[in-house]
Amino acid sequence: MAATKYIFVTGGVTSSLGKGIISSSLAKLLQARGYSVTIQKLDPYINIDPGTLNPYEHGECYVTQDGAETDLDLGHYERFLGVPTSQANNVTTGRIYQSVINKERRGDYLGKTVQIIPHITDEIKRRILLLGKKHKYDVVITEIGGTVGDIESLPYIETVRQLRWELGPKNSLVIHLTLVPYLAASGELKTKPTQHSVKNLLENGVQPDILVLRTERTLNKDIRKKVALFCNVDLPSVIESIDVKTIYEVPLLMLKEKLDETTLIKLDLPILSPPELKPWKIFVDKLKNPSKSVNIALVGKYVELHDSYKSIIESLTHAGAVNSARINLKCLHSENINPETVGEILSGNDGIIVAPGFGDRGIEGKILAVKYARENKIPYFGICLGMQCAVIEFARNVLDFKDAHSTEMTHMTAHPVIDLMEEQKGVAEKGGTMRLGSYPCHVNKNSLVFKAYGKKNISERHRHRYEFNSDYLKSFESKGFLASGINPDSKLVEIMELKDHPWFVGVQFHPEYSSSVLKPHPLFVSFVEAAILKKESN
Ligand code: GLN
Repeated sequence: MAATKYIFVTGGVTSSLGKGIISSSLAKLLQARGYSVTIQKLDPYINIDPGTLNPYEHGECYVTQDGAETDLDLGHYERFLGVPTSQANNVTTGRIYQSVINKERRGDYLGKTVQIIPHITDEIKRRILLLGKKHKYDVVITEIGGTVGDIESLPYIETVRQLRWELGPKNSLVIHLTLVPYLAASGELKTKPTQHSVKNLLENGVQPDILVLRTERTLNKDIRKKVALFCNVDLPSVIESIDVKTIYEVPLLMLKEKLDETTLIKLDLPILSPPELKPWKIFVDKLKNPSKSVNIALVGKYVELHDSYKSIIESLTHAGAVNSARINLKCLHSENINPETVGEILSGNDGIIVAPGFGDRGIEGKILAVKYARENKIPYFGICLGMQCAVIEFARNVLDFKDAHSTEMTHMTAHPVIDLMEEQKGVAEKGGTMRLGSYPCHVNKNSLVFKAYGKKNISERHRHRYEFNSDYLKSFESKGFLASGINPDSKLVEIMELKDHPWFVGVQFHPEYSSSVLKPHPLFVSFVEAAILKKESN
């Protein structure tokens, strides 16, 4: 295989057009044709990473195996491709500037004025080319965050311009994603915003090769021709991306529009074999035609914005499809749950999840949700903070340690059953300092989770500072609490379950980061199975 080919994906007109899904879909098609592909996201904001952002600002923070806190689009990349990403797959302006400034202090540019061009653009270039050089992918897709025309995006667009020239013809490609709005009053689809955003790219020296047009209605030949003529692209390079029910249909849609073939021709890559998409199609078919349904409650505090729990929601989608069940998901605000409302809010659910989170806002509502699930024998899945809430609830209501709590919430407790990890005690900085990334875990053979995983040695991704306080393990175990997953090195309790309950599992890690379409996470699959059984037993 010759040198790596580079594809740049830009967006125009508005944000949230689904650049991440188009990038993932194209990558999926190329992968299904036998090419090795990775996707990278360049984020124009100044934060070093999204780890310190409130989920309301930027949705979920996704964590890679190597412990990078990244943009949620990396979750889509992994879910579509089934291949792990790493820190190199997500670069922010903050990170770019940080390395340039560090070099300046070291004296690497001695005597020179440090400027956006060439120093910042060179650093962006280095980060893009690194993926191809280090891992020798056939194709690297680089998604540029933000919208063309934003001040923040300019250095990135300029880098694309330079790289296209340096890489030479047929070695790179620009795919520009825009919106074709439908005006109901006049009954027309409008192409002007697309023309303007392509002009904007042209002003910066970049001619897009392929246009992907997001639309609510089918684009007829005339509209396609008009866009092709005014934006200097050939007709097959005008791709329609019509709204669909599930993001997992988009690769199939792009296949129909021949986005992959057009891409391969333009990059002078052989169109090897037809894409192998059989398992993908079976998944989509199961997802769209469920034979049963279950009601799942997701209790958290960022529920107004579904992007905050993106990976959990997608993991449930994967697990639902495997079980041929539609997941009726209710996202519930824990601040609304109190002793008077808990029954009314949670009744009718076949499974309850308490979400990850930080800080004490809404914590008592979460603990009440755990109690409700435990007492009513409803399948319970506690993720990270959700496991910690399960521990606190058990301590308070089963062991009768009435004031039990996590020291994240209060130090005024005689029973700190969740406490700061030893390694966290001297940590003052907030950015990138949690226990992050993959750690091994040994699963107890006589446990419910062992049945789900089917193996003893697992590895899962983490993002936390607090842990189960092992001083209490003996008292917990005497009352039917099982520490069913232990870190072999640090002995931290990574998984807990309750013996006297059909399905009650808390995990200190984040299984949602590693569920993919073709490999749904076993714990989500098992949880949904339990929810189906619960519903059937009613
Ligand atoms: N706030 C808890 C901790 O830091 C849980 C974190 C989480 O849910 N990701 O340990």
